[in-house]
Amino acid sequence: MPDPKVALITGGGRGIGREIALAFAREGLAVAVAARTPSQVEEAAEAVRALGAEALPVVLDVADAGAIPVAVKAVTDALGPVDVLVNNAGIAESAPLAKTDPALWERHLRVNATGPFLLTREVLPGMLERGWGRVINIASLAGLFGAPYVTAYATSKHALVGLTRAVAAEVSGKGVTVNALCPGYVATDLTWKGARNIAAKTGKSFEEALQSLARINPGGRLIEPAEVAAAALKLLPDGGTNGETIVLDGS
Ligand code: NAP
Repeated sequence: MPDPKVALITGGGRGIGREIALAFAREGLAVAVAARTPSQVEEAAEAVRALGAEALPVVLDVADAGAIPVAVKAVTDALGPVDVLVNNAGIAESAPLAKTDPALWERHLRVNATGPFLLTREVLPGMLERGWGRVINIASLAGLFGAPYVTAYATSKHALVGLTRAVAAEVSGKGVTVNALCPGYVATDLTWKGARNIAAKTGKSFEEALQSLARINPGGRLIEPAEVAAAALKLLPDGGTNGETIVLDGS
């Protein structure tokens, strides 16, 4: 990996994205962290700077198509062109199919699939021009397999896996790789929210609900955000995979 590189990590304000930001900072990358909550992107950027790396907090809603070129320009102006794009911002709301209303469906596709498409489209030409780039899509096991009560989420993550494979084929041999990480349940806010939801609906305690989610992972435990960050780091050096879906299931 030549030169210090510039990474843009969506959903970098907390959870998996923040952990990837810190891991990249330790490797000397400059990191832009983008999400909707200003206090969280500012805090994450501060944590990146504390590791001695350059950082930029970016307030961005990836569902806002018009905001995407503006955000990418802000990163380019402040840190340089984006060499590494991590499409990590995501939402997950559960509902049985009959209660999955069109708004919930649209929201998932817009945030989890269309946002990554628009961001990739924005940065890919520059990566190809420079002959080096990495796109890392944080998909999910739900991007590879079906599961009950998460039709909108699973469909959006399958779309993200499709985007990964199609763009990877298009850029093959040109110095750019596009891969997807597919974790099972990870120890973050998103999983705590799911556990709270199960607890409310089933009368289980929060701990019991959390354990039931951990047991769905083939390894029987929650995955740590640092494990996802370590997998993202492995995709940076030259000679790596392209178009892969890398499963992190805690086993
Ligand atoms: P998290 O703690 O809820 O973090 C999600 C991040 O995405 C936050 O920074 C959030 O910030 C940001 N985000 C959400 N909607 C956004 C939008 N419209 N525009 C910009 N940023 C947005 O969840 P996480 O577990 O770290 O999730 C990160 C990714 O991993 C997601 O794509 C998720 O689907 C995937 N994943 C998670 C798990 C899991 O079990 N946790 C498993 C497999 C895959 P704001 O709310 O401030 O915008």
